[in-house]
Amino acid sequence: MKILRQIPAKNYSYILLPSFVLIIVFSSSSISATPSLSPSDQGTEKHATSPEQDKSHVHEVHCSRERSRAAWKVIEEYLMPFVEREKYELPRQCRLHPSNDIFRDQEEHKIHFDLNEWRCGYCKKSFRAEKFLDQHFDNRHSNLLDTVHSKCLADVCGALHCDLVMEFKSKKTKCNPAAAARNRHLCEGLADKCFPANESPSATRLHELFLRQFCDAHTCSGGRKPFSKGGKKHTNRFYFAASVLTLMLLPLFYLIVYLYQKEMKRGTQELKRIAKVGRKAKPS
Ligand SMILES: [Zn+2]
Repeated sequence: MKILRQIPAKNYSYILLPSFVLIIVFSSSSISATPSLSPSDQGTEKHATSPEQDKSHVHEVHCSRERSRAAWKVIEEYLMPFVEREKYELPRQCRLHPSNDIFRDQEEHKIHFDLNEWRCGYCKKSFRAEKFLDQHFDNRHSNLLDTVHSKCLADVCGALHCDLVMEFKSKKTKCNPAAAARNRHLCEGLADKCFPANESPSATRLHELFLRQFCDAHTCSGGRKPFSKGGKKHTNRFYFAASVLTLMLLPLFYLIVYLYQKEMKRGTQELKRIAKVGRKAKPS
């Protein structure tokens, strides 16, 4: 209270402004924090409720986990925002349906606990990097892969331009017209299966969008660029970083304001004392 009284009315903005920032930051960080927690919840839940997963059918899996992940990333980023906006549900026979990705369940059992800590959602073992967790899944939990019903999502990578989102991009090769035509055919097939035109207005719209977003670019004659319709906006991470930074800087800010006010008060007292001494000294 004493500190507050020392600060003139004008300076309350110094306190009110950061408080507002703090409130906004808290509300945004609570939103951005939820998705990072959910995999662990899903992990325990799913693990507990699917006893058929314990059936050990160990098959050798010839499907690239990395490319499947890239394909999923493309779908999540450049397709799902539009699908969600249309409130459209992908049919089960669509290759892009989550249940058709053989690695989906394992990927959802990854808990990114910390920058250098990845946890297995099945057995809670920790790893330094995602690739070690991938190896762990291959070594310990390959029996959980549904090799009967699921398909390899990496197979549609050609259509989805996976190379563009992969960390180690393959070297640019000369455009091969035959490969481009093949990918275009695969791409249009996906559009037909996933968004049967004339089935509903939203399916028709999404069918069109899918062709523009993914298929048009499969040409050697320099057509559109892939993902021309844009993708998901990355605001969550930015808000999270901003809120952490603000929380760190806020105590420092208050300390500076406090010390400044204290210094100012001491300064005015000093002045008053000098003035008093000067006044007293004059008459005598
Ligand atoms: Zn495990």
